[in-house]
Amino acid sequence: MFGYDSYDRICQQCGDPFLGRRDAKYCSSVCRQRAYNIRRRAKRVTDSQAKCNHRNQAKRNKSGGDA
Ligand SMILES: [Zn+2]
Repeated sequence: MFGYDSYDRICQQCGDPFLGRRDAKYCSSVCRQRAYNIRRRAKRVTDSQAKCNHRNQAKRNKSGGDA
């Protein structure tokens, strides 16, 4: 009988109260995307660091290639 259940929720991103599904964490896709981006950015820091090391290695190989 219940096509759409809505509950009083608090957005985990902006802290605003909203009506959503019981398992909803964010008031909108914008907040969900933002939270996802923040999580991804934290991961990207280590990613760029690894990339940096890789670039340094490639540079070293180029200058060291004295054949
Ligand atoms: Zn929100």
